[in-house]
Amino acid sequence: MHINTKCVQAGYEPKNGESRVIPIIQSTTFKYDSAETLGKLFDLEEDGFFYTRLTNPTLSAVAAKIAALEGGVGAMLTASGQSASMISITNICHAGDHVVCASAIYGGTFNLFNKSLRELGMDFTFVTPDSTEDEINAAFQENTRAVFVESVSNPSLDVADVELYAKLAHAHGVPLIVDNTFPTPVNFRPFEWGADIVVHSTSKYMDGHAVALGGVVVDSGNFDWTNGKYPAFTEPDESYHGVIYTEKFGKAAYITKAVTHMMRDYGPQQSPQNAFLLNLGLETLFLRMERHCSNALKVAKFLESNDKIDWVNYPGLESNKYYGLCQKYMPNGSCGVISFGVKGGREKAMQFMNNLDMIKLVIHVADARTCALHPASTTHRQLNDQQLEDCGVKPNLIRMSVGIEYVDDIIADIKQALDKI
Ligand SMILES: *Cc1c(COP(=O)(O)O)cnc(C)c1O
Repeated sequence: MHINTKCVQAGYEPKNGESRVIPIIQSTTFKYDSAETLGKLFDLEEDGFFYTRLTNPTLSAVAAKIAALEGGVGAMLTASGQSASMISITNICHAGDHVVCASAIYGGTFNLFNKSLRELGMDFTFVTPDSTEDEINAAFQENTRAVFVESVSNPSLDVADVELYAKLAHAHGVPLIVDNTFPTPVNFRPFEWGADIVVHSTSKYMDGHAVALGGVVVDSGNFDWTNGKYPAFTEPDESYHGVIYTEKFGKAAYITKAVTHMMRDYGPQQSPQNAFLLNLGLETLFLRMERHCSNALKVAKFLESNDKIDWVNYPGLESNKYYGLCQKYMPNGSCGVISFGVKGGREKAMQFMNNLDMIKLVIHVADARTCALHPASTTHRQLNDQQLEDCGVKPNLIRMSVGIEYVDDIIADIKQALDKI
């Protein structure tokens, strides 16, 4: 099936007389006839639902749809994008391990890694977007266990050279994890370029209506966990009667361990209600992404031609330094988020924000409604100037998430806001 059809159809196949739409199974628990069956479930000897903290029919259908969209062997929904990023790392890295990470990543992910996971004993080396192949290579250490990048970074909109990162990660015997939130699998599928694990904040385009917080971890099934660096996959897990994940679950070892170990112990599960809402978003994802991208390109071109604008950053613009990579990886467009600087610096940028009318000031991005944000005073305010610079965030940067409204209305609002400054 084409990916557009998968958005509508994948993940759920109702049996005779069952509900046509993925049902909301609002039950934490499931009933079994015998103690023996339940025992087998606990030993991972049999498939079945028993407690929603691990999974449930609604969650598993929606996860299966996202796995199909990315082309993976399995997926696990999480309560948020943050918990998806956390588990993508903690499933394979422990105290004493090291991760090579792109510095151009979401501020929340940067804090998760640089503060919270460091406090748990993990170490990170951040590589800037303009790093050469040699510089990235030099960031690897004996104890490196993963590489983490964002395909299109939030908010700086750097396009990661995923094929190159995958090559370098594999040369060092470690997997490449890609946060693919901004392009979504409709516009970019990292597994086709060698990535091993994909994470998303489903709170963004996948939901698309800003109604349900969520995340997902997707496993390509392609990484070889038996190369000696991942004993948690190749030695018996005593908390499951000695199961060896790579032997028992083969290509699905990573995602099975994420569910049965990480989700069991940490428990950041998505609610069935949110998964239901997420699925509604997924059904129209391909339609919305097309409009987000065409609107964003038109808005970016309008801004580029306006003399009150200092600079415009959108990978779909020919003037953009990532235009080539964007054409290579995302020929149909990247996402609806653009950024730009208003002439006159921080103060004029704030005036512009206050002049907007239809376009609202919100922290969110990537839903149907156009919205704008000034990261240096909000999402990234905890970062010092050097860290801001490393993340590609200028003090006068305005991030605008272009929605799916009629594009002339979006441009008219921007124009009147600019005219007033
Ligand atoms: C929002 C976002 C996250 C975090 O997701 P939440 O659902 O807000 O926890 C992670 N990565 C990217 C690229 C994001 O935009």
